[in-house]
Amino acid sequence: MTNKARWIRDYSSSMSCELCGFLCEDCIHAMNDCPYALNVRSSLMPNDLSNGFFTADFEDWLHMNLNSSIVFSEADIPWPVMFSIVVWKIWKWRCKRIFDEEFSSPYNPNVLLTKYVKEI
Ligand SMILES: [Zn+2]
Repeated sequence: MTNKARWIRDYSSSMSCELCGFLCEDCIHAMNDCPYALNVRSSLMPNDLSNGFFTADFEDWLHMNLNSSIVFSEADIPWPVMFSIVVWKIWKWRCKRIFDEEFSSPYNPNVLLTKYVKEI
């Protein structure tokens, strides 16, 4: 659950992002706009999807990625599959960074994700 969702339910006193301090951690921030997500995703994103990638709202952003016909060439898999895995890993690592003090983010997440996708 994002901090905005927790704040709305009165589970949190703030809706800001705990990783970068942005005022509102909603879904699009956590998965796309946050510097943490951007760092993980930036070198994996196909150039053909970069137009509108940073300005679309959350539903348009999901639609654009999940309906793309682009193939992630490094692993030879459809981009929607790669996108789903990347977003899932960003969310898992994000939660671990926030809730597990001993967790440290992968040094090179892009290489790790590409290797992970090739194995499955
Ligand atoms: Zn952030």
